[in-house]
Amino acid sequence: MDRRQFVELGLAASAALAVSPMSLHASDAKPAVHTLPPLPYPYDALEPYIDAKTMELHHSKHHQAYVDGLNKAEAELAKARQSGDYTLIEYWSKKAAFNGGGHFLHTMFWEIMAPPAKGGGGAVPGRLEAALKDSFGSVEAFRAQMSAAAAAVEGSGWALLHVRPSDGRLIILQAENQHKLTPWGVVPIMGIDVWEHAYYLKYQNRRTDYIKAWWNVVNWAKVEDNYLRVVGR
Ligand code: MN
Repeated sequence: MDRRQFVELGLAASAALAVSPMSLHASDAKPAVHTLPPLPYPYDALEPYIDAKTMELHHSKHHQAYVDGLNKAEAELAKARQSGDYTLIEYWSKKAAFNGGGHFLHTMFWEIMAPPAKGGGGAVPGRLEAALKDSFGSVEAFRAQMSAAAAAVEGSGWALLHVRPSDGRLIILQAENQHKLTPWGVVPIMGIDVWEHAYYLKYQNRRTDYIKAWWNVVNWAKVEDNYLRVVGR
């Protein structure tokens, strides 16, 4: 491949990843710059199920901190490549996993919720409904397992619905923090954040009340879209 083709390929790859095109020399690769995505609705849009103050802090402070932490970790790993000093590689690799998990999951979390007036908590669309029935027996059985998994997360974490592309099945797993207890080869398509920062202002220690309320704001159309993006339309 000549240099022009190489540059074109690199630009296409950059565009696909929504990263601005930059220098493409391997020796000075720039770290991706992650940014906080805008919330797709106002802070108070999920009231009364999730209060505006929680949404504001959760999005503008907590998610922002994961974005900043991921950028920092990737910048430090880039510095290590330049200097050849890998003394702190374990530390920054862990930071990249924790903050990368946080950025990815929160980006998904905002999108798979919607105000009830805009479809939140509505009917499960057909393709997703069929897949839930195949994997869990019924939508009700799926909801019961998902709620139980969320309620039982030890400390801070998530309950996540994953697609396993190897056999097309849907599985529910917990995650501790933003990234632990995850096997390779699954793709999360839906999740409920059960860190205390996600509910404590309104629900205090009543995590199960928050989980029960959360089902009223699930954006099923987006969950189905995430599912179809993995298994094909
Ligand atoms: Mn969170």
